[in-house]
Amino acid sequence: MKLLLENWRKFLNEMEEPITTLRIFDFDETIAHTRSETRVKAPDGTEATLRGQKEFEAYMSQAAAKEGIDIFDPVSALREIGYEIDLSDFSIVKDPEEITIITDIMRAFPPDSKTYIMTARRGGSLGPILDYLKEIEIDHHQVRPIATHGESKGDTIAHMIGQKIMPDGKSNISRIEYYEDSQKNIDDVLRKVCENPELDEIKPVDFELIINKVINNEGQYNIQQIECRYPN
Ligand SMILES: [Mg+2]
Repeated sequence: MKLLLENWRKFLNEMEEPITTLRIFDFDETIAHTRSETRVKAPDGTEATLRGQKEFEAYMSQAAAKEGIDIFDPVSALREIGYEIDLSDFSIVKDPEEITIITDIMRAFPPDSKTYIMTARRGGSLGPILDYLKEIEIDHHQVRPIATHGESKGDTIAHMIGQKIMPDGKSNISRIEYYEDSQKNIDDVLRKVCENPELDEIKPVDFELIINKVINNEGQYNIQQIECRYPN
């Protein structure tokens, strides 16, 4: 009963919280560089080791095209037709190197904002990610982890905008800051959040989506800002 009351109190507090900004951070190659690899064996016996997101996406989209699969995340469909795809490195945080240009931003928790880690990882990956935040001394109690299991981050963020609608019919979220290294995910978020006419009705007039693309230049990281200018 005590727990129930505490949860209820927490819920009420959140209802009153004037949260207007969502800060959404990808994990791999945004918060930390890791040595995670994906090992693949195709039905024809060819094997590959994919290092990094780019190699992963290139392999998966090529294999999907070859097999006539046209969906956002082809991993399950490829497995069903006999591809062995070993993603076990992504259930841990393997040899992480902190990307401080991003974690410094994450550490400063601005008022009126809520901070998320949104990873496309599958399975039980959230525990190790939160442990890692603890390790680098980020207050993990202020961070909510979400795993999309390979599915669209754009859909998830669009859904978050619709979560709290104010009496004027508009979302209370007027600003989204999104930190991400994958161009595939950025394009998806631009399409589903920035340029999505279905959200026109609920976006506040001053709505802003700021995409911070994390670029790795041989171990030197920088941020490229991409602004949503829709509908202009
Ligand atoms: Mg990433």
